[in-house]
Amino acid sequence: MNLPFAESYKIKMVESIRRSTKEERLKWLKEAYYNVFNLRSEYVYIDLLTDSGTGAMSDKQWAEIMIGDESYAGASSYLKMKAVIKELFGFNDFLPTHQGRAAENVLFSLLVKKGDIVPGNSHFDTTKGHIEFRHAKAIDCTIDEAFDPTLDYPFKGNLDLNKLEKVLQSNPIEKIPMVVVTVTCNTSGGQPVSMQNLKDVNALAHKYGTKVIFDSARFAENAYFIKIREKGYEDKTIKEIVKEMYSYADGMTMSSKKDAIVNMGGFIGFRDRKMYEEASVYNIMFEGFVTYGGMSGRDMNALTQGLLEGTEFDYLETRIKQVEYLGEKIKSAGIPLMQPFGGHAIFIDAKKFFPHIPKEEYIAQTLVTEIYLEGGVRAVEIGTLLADRDPETRENRYPALELVRLAIPRRVYTNSHMDYIAATVANVFERRETITRGLKILREAPIMRHFTVELEKI
Ligand SMILES: *Cc1c(COP(=O)(O)O)cnc(C)c1O
Repeated sequence: MNLPFAESYKIKMVESIRRSTKEERLKWLKEAYYNVFNLRSEYVYIDLLTDSGTGAMSDKQWAEIMIGDESYAGASSYLKMKAVIKELFGFNDFLPTHQGRAAENVLFSLLVKKGDIVPGNSHFDTTKGHIEFRHAKAIDCTIDEAFDPTLDYPFKGNLDLNKLEKVLQSNPIEKIPMVVVTVTCNTSGGQPVSMQNLKDVNALAHKYGTKVIFDSARFAENAYFIKIREKGYEDKTIKEIVKEMYSYADGMTMSSKKDAIVNMGGFIGFRDRKMYEEASVYNIMFEGFVTYGGMSGRDMNALTQGLLEGTEFDYLETRIKQVEYLGEKIKSAGIPLMQPFGGHAIFIDAKKFFPHIPKEEYIAQTLVTEIYLEGGVRAVEIGTLLADRDPETRENRYPALELVRLAIPRRVYTNSHMDYIAATVANVFERRETITRGLKILREAPIMRHFTVELEKI
C-alpha cells in the first residue's frame, strides 16, 4: 500500500475550542447583527476569518522569544534578522515595521507623490489605500485569465505585459515611482506569479526606468507554486527559488503575519542603500528606531526563525495540501468554487450557490451567516459589503463575483477540522433552496463598512 501524505509536524501545545448548539449560534448571530466581525472568538468553533497573524509558532520560534535582545539600538535580534533577510532575499538593508501596512506607509511616504501612478497585479486593499491616500492611482494590470473563476490556469497572479507596457508608455516615467507585484496575489484569490513573469516585469520596468517592489506577504507560497508548476524549477529548493524571485525586485514590503508565521510584524527590504537611508527617516518618525521599528527584540527573533521555517518545502507542502484537501472535499459535494485553489484560502462562488437570492440582499454575507449557523465556522464575505458604496452616487457597488473566503491559518487546524468545515458547507448547500431571502442593512459606516455593518434577516 502507498503510504498516505501526512503533516510534517506533531503537536506540542493545544488550545481548547468549544462546539456550540445551533440555538446558541442563532442568538449570538442576532446579537452580532449578522456580522461575524462582531462575534466573540469564543463563540466560533473553527475560525477562518483570516490567515493573517493567526498561525501557530513552532517550538523553535518560542525558544527564540526567550533569547530576544531588547536593546534599543544594535540588538542582536536585529542583526540576526538582517542576516536572514540577506540570505533569503539578497537585500543588504532592511527596516523592521510593526506590520505590512506600516511597511507600505514608510516606503510609500518616500516614493509616492500626488498624481503618481502605481501599476501592479490587483493591489491589496491596504496597498491601494496607501496609494490613494496620497492622491495617486493604482492601476490593475493583472492578466484577464485571473477574472474567470473556474479557468484552470497555473499563474493567475501574473501581470499582463501589454497592459503594463501601455501604462509605462503613456505616462511620464517620473510619475511612476514603482510597479508593485503582489506574491501571491491575495486579491485574485492567493494566485501565484510565475518566475518568467517576475523576470519580464523587471525587464520592462527597468527598460522604462522605474522600480519593482514585491508586496511579499505570501512569497513562500508563491515559491512553492513555482516549484510545483513551472518548468525548470522542480529540482530547486524553495530558498533557491526565493533568491531568484527577489533578484527581480528592487525592494519588498512584507506582512510577516502570513508566511513568516508570526502573530505581528513586518519589514521593508532594500537593494539600494540610498533608498534605505531616505526611508529610515520615515521609519524613525512612524515606527521606531531603524534597529527595531515597532517590534520587540523577541518578536524579531521569532519572525527570523519563522522566515527560515516558512521557506522549508515540507512545511509548505503540508500547508498547501491542506488547503487543497479542503477545496477537493467542498468541490466533490458539487459546491461552486474558484479554481485552481489558492495558496491560503478556498473561495466559494456565492452567486452560483444561491442563484435565487437577489444581489440587493447581500448574497455572500448571507452564505457567511448560514455557514456560521450550521457549524460555528467563521468565514468572511468578499462581496457587496466589502465593495462598499460608490463615493459619489452612494449606491451599492455590486462586484462581478460574490465570494465567501475560507482562509486557513498556518499549522493550526487538522484535516479532521477540514472534514468538519466541508460537511458544514455541504449541509448548507443541501438546504440552499430553503434559504430564499438574504439580509438588509440597519446601520453602516460611511467607508470600510464591512467591519462594523449591522444587518438583519429579511
Ligand atoms: C496582509 C497583507 C498586507 C498588509 O499587511 P498587514 O500586516 O495586515 O498590515 C499587504 N499586502 C498583502 C498582499 C497582504 O496580504
